[in-house]
Amino acid sequence: MGNVFEYRQGLLCCEGVELQKVAEREGTPCYVYSSAGILNAYGEYAVGLEGIPHRICYAVKANGNLAVLALLARAGAGFDIVSGGELYRVLKAGGDPEKVVFSGVGKTREEIEYALSEGIHSFNCESEAEIALISSLAVRLGRTASVAVRVNPDVDASTHPYISTGLKEHKFGIGIAEVRGVYDRAAALPGIALDGVSCHIGSQLLDASPLLEAAQKMLDLVDALRARGIPIRVLDLGGGLGVPYHAGDPRPDVPGFLSTLKSLVAGRDLFLMLEPGRSIVAESGALLARVLYRKKSGEKEFVIVDASMAELIRPALYEAHHEILPLRECRFGTVKADVVGPVCESGDFLAEGREVANVLPGDTIAAMTAGAYGFAMASNYNARLRPCEVLVEGESWRVVRRRETLAELVRGEQ
Ligand SMILES: *Cc1c(COP(=O)(O)O)cnc(C)c1O
Repeated sequence: MGNVFEYRQGLLCCEGVELQKVAEREGTPCYVYSSAGILNAYGEYAVGLEGIPHRICYAVKANGNLAVLALLARAGAGFDIVSGGELYRVLKAGGDPEKVVFSGVGKTREEIEYALSEGIHSFNCESEAEIALISSLAVRLGRTASVAVRVNPDVDASTHPYISTGLKEHKFGIGIAEVRGVYDRAAALPGIALDGVSCHIGSQLLDASPLLEAAQKMLDLVDALRARGIPIRVLDLGGGLGVPYHAGDPRPDVPGFLSTLKSLVAGRDLFLMLEPGRSIVAESGALLARVLYRKKSGEKEFVIVDASMAELIRPALYEAHHEILPLRECRFGTVKADVVGPVCESGDFLAEGREVANVLPGDTIAAMTAGAYGFAMASNYNARLRPCEVLVEGESWRVVRRRETLAELVRGEQ
């Protein structure tokens, strides 16, 4: 759990704040984020790439809360977006549009026009038709759009199939075998500066070697494109480094990865971009939930809590693991149980068959390592109100998104 969450005198704390107090004051379910944790994780990237021209574009989709974005914008981060909505968030949070890269396989005309008119840094494009559309819209708006082609380097990221993106059979990018022809044809289009290459091979990579393998393939591609007279300036290697979700799992060696990357890129006259999401925010977040009931069904024990797959869908979607910790260290040992929510789906669990603290109704637990793809994937399924979000800074905390209200639940409906 990094070092921003720890027990002090039997109470789970985030930085200098007792989480029990947050749960009592703000209610549950509730996401809590550590600003120090987020800034430390960003700082590890920033320090690791010092000395070469670079930008770290935080992937907004991991956690798009305005306060989180503002924290990172003030630290100097750029942003990787995948929708017009994310661009809106970045601008609202005070992010610099010139540091924004727009990724994604299905950008609409409206989203492209919005991004062009705000003057973002560049587009990572995933098809020839998309490049042609950007070209024509840029000409009409009197802009020049910086464009990179997202290349599928055919590297096996060895991660969960739903978050692996860099193999030939995936919908993402353009195959490395076909991409030279795409550059040749697109180079002649007006309104665009075709000056980058990009890739993103997957997520939750605990070992950096697939990323380095992809980097090497991309550098070879840069050389080949430059030899064809295409002046590539930017190399964007995407995001994807993982975090230890299980207590005791090793943490990927981010400094080691960055130093190897730096030595590969140094002296090649390239602007290096990375798009980390999960590794910036995951470990700095926890989801607090109150125990509603305990129940035994045959031999099975259930801990029923007030958080569900509507607030944290990762266990249901990816069979993901989140450590479950009691906010007060438990004096009654442990129990093997399913920790489940109130949603009407058998897939609605936070943990299955897990040895957890023997908590009782009224106790509060935390699902750890929930800062990435947690609230960002929350829904109103079962007409549940989306939870509040709290940002901790040292000894204090503030609500950075209040809990939804019933009126907001039906907003816009007739
Ligand atoms: C999701 C995504 C990222 C961030 O991935 P993480 O695994 O969260 O670091 C970066 N770039 C692109 C294009 C993405 O789709």
